[in-house]
Amino acid sequence: MTRERLREVAAASLDGLRSAIRSGKLEGEALDAELGIDAVIERIARAAISETKRRLTRVVNATGIVLHTGLGRAPVHPEVAARMEEAARSFCTLEINRETGERGQRDARLSQLLKQLTGAEEGIAVNNCAGAVLLTLSTFAAGREAVTSRGELVEIGGSFRMPDVMRAANVKLVEVGTTNRTRIADYRAAARENVGLLLKVHTSNFRVVGFTEEVSEGELAELGQELGIRTAFDLGSGLLDTESLSSLDFLQGETQVHTAVASGLDVVMFSGDKLLGAPQAGLLVGKKDAINALRKNPIYRAVRLDKAALAGLEATFEMILEGRADELPTHEMLGRSLDTIESAATELANHLDSLSSFQSRVEKSASQPGSGSAPGTEIPSFAVSVEHARYSPKQLARELRMGETCVFSRIQDDRVWLDPRTLLDNDLALLKEALGRLD
Ligand SMILES: *Cc1c(COP(=O)(O)O)cnc(C)c1O
Repeated sequence: MTRERLREVAAASLDGLRSAIRSGKLEGEALDAELGIDAVIERIARAAISETKRRLTRVVNATGIVLHTGLGRAPVHPEVAARMEEAARSFCTLEINRETGERGQRDARLSQLLKQLTGAEEGIAVNNCAGAVLLTLSTFAAGREAVTSRGELVEIGGSFRMPDVMRAANVKLVEVGTTNRTRIADYRAAARENVGLLLKVHTSNFRVVGFTEEVSEGELAELGQELGIRTAFDLGSGLLDTESLSSLDFLQGETQVHTAVASGLDVVMFSGDKLLGAPQAGLLVGKKDAINALRKNPIYRAVRLDKAALAGLEATFEMILEGRADELPTHEMLGRSLDTIESAATELANHLDSLSSFQSRVEKSASQPGSGSAPGTEIPSFAVSVEHARYSPKQLARELRMGETCVFSRIQDDRVWLDPRTLLDNDLALLKEALGRLD
């Protein structure tokens, strides 16, 4: 921290003290305790430390939520991170053809890998899936209409609501069907002259159950081809056909990217940092002419990827193509065996038993895929539930977040729960140390 910033932090801290006194919140003995020079210095030191803790910090994720949006979603494989670092810290062949020395396309190689991975005719990448949706809407339906099912007008957290994105892209939304049932005839009836896009959206973070009906990607693609209207599917999570994930129970029934592509849709969109386990990105794959139309839209330039993300995506795709998807951290965590998790939980509980302020037990628990990658699903897991002699569960969770190692846990049934499913290599040792410091 610079001297100047420290002076500001000190001044703000003293202002806080003054206003507490003025408002009468601090009086009598409590006030006396705050006024000694030691107390004032400590107050300023606390403020300065808390300021330094606001920087982006590495976290030990013991929440059991694998793709935790607040904690940055997918951590990448160390080999992928090394490729990202190299691209970031040096010059690289980002937009240049090495052979000819001429200007080239920044995602030429990525396109090739996307085609290999998904079976699509063409593929491109942008900053995230929200950007991919915006680009698709703007390219095919700006100033016109896009038809979507009422059951799929999803909000993906915060400010990304499908109707709002359409408005922002200057697209008029035509809702068809009902909340629980939409048929292809509904799309057909709405497909007037001014319609530029038939859009299907994965209901990532909710599930409609009971008396339901939705239009399949195949039906939508067929209708689009018959009427000469573009079709797109916002898949959100983007499940590729890898052995590491396709065998998992909780992902059965999830539409895979290559299935959506094979159904004949013009554009299929998905995120890089959800089930794919890559850096943040939005991937768009599909028909050659449709993807090339996206490339020509100036918005593509505005939502393009940076070189580090591109390097990371390339490296991730290469690992998947080499049959190494099971090594990607998110894939490994999602498929981690109950035995492995139970033995980590037992090790953690034994460590806590050796400390005097903790009371803990290993319990059956449920992890979550997270980030709307399989809504309403839980993955059976084990966790250690903890009580502390001096801290309430809320205080303990805070101490864990604010310690030298930043640990995120979850509170359930008035106890702090630590789920080893989401621990990365060496995290267990860090977690044990962090708990030891609170003894
Ligand atoms: C997550 C999600 C998005 C947004 O993806 P980002 O990569 O976070 O921008 C868009 N659509 C669906 C259906 C999603 O699940």
